Amino acid sequence: MTAVRGRTRRYRGGVPAILIVEDDQRIRQSLSSRLAERGHQVDAVGTAMSGVEAAVSGTFDVVVLDLGLPDLDGAEALRMIRSVTDVPVVVATARDDEAEIVRLLNAGADDYVVKPYSAEHLEARVRAVLRRSSSDPEQRTLVVGDLTIDLDAREARFEDRPLELTAREFELLAYLAERPGSMVSKRQLLAEVWHQPYGGADKTVDVHLSWLRKKLGETAAEPRYIRTQRGVGVRLVDPGS
Ligand code: CA
Repeated sequence: MTAVRGRTRRYRGGVPAILIVEDDQRIRQSLSSRLAERGHQVDAVGTAMSGVEAAVSGTFDVVVLDLGLPDLDGAEALRMIRSVTDVPVVVATARDDEAEIVRLLNAGADDYVVKPYSAEHLEARVRAVLRRSSSDPEQRTLVVGDLTIDLDAREARFEDRPLELTAREFELLAYLAERPGSMVSKRQLLAEVWHQPYGGADKTVDVHLSWLRKKLGETAAEPRYIRTQRGVGVRLVDPGS
């Protein structure tokens, strides 16, 4: 391989080009067609080696890497990609194994999805990853309904008024707004907003959600933006869509 870091394509907004590395032909085909329908340029390969080669070609904005591939361990494939390019990588794993996920994030993965996952869920993760790696200020502003979140200024506005949020409330709202419509578990929130990868008290999340709700002028009985599902998690939605 002769590719060098400098060749990495820089994401400039628009619909990202996605490389899928997945050996399950059924998943590969259905994901490819769903993402293509949604306007993405998609390429899909079935082995780690072809994935590494395609990833370093510099023609993709993001790589979705299955960890269970026939020819190479997923962590090894990730290491090979990372040694030549800083293209964002979302790893797809069959097990919701926190120790393994933390290991992969430390090894250079940008985010992860747990199988089975939908094309919509993957797309939300891809957008979040690209937003984090982008230097374009427009990419750094999230809009969900009447809610606007400026990630650089760390300011949120709701119905054209500034929202007074604590640092933790801001983190929580931004995390949910990066994945609009996607269900997020409390365990995931504890890991990624509270930085407690081995869990903590769900009550902590509940209390912060109720404070956020209050600031958005809604209640658990009559939710608009913040929709919780008992025992499953929470998602942020645009009530007008
Ligand atoms: Ca697999």
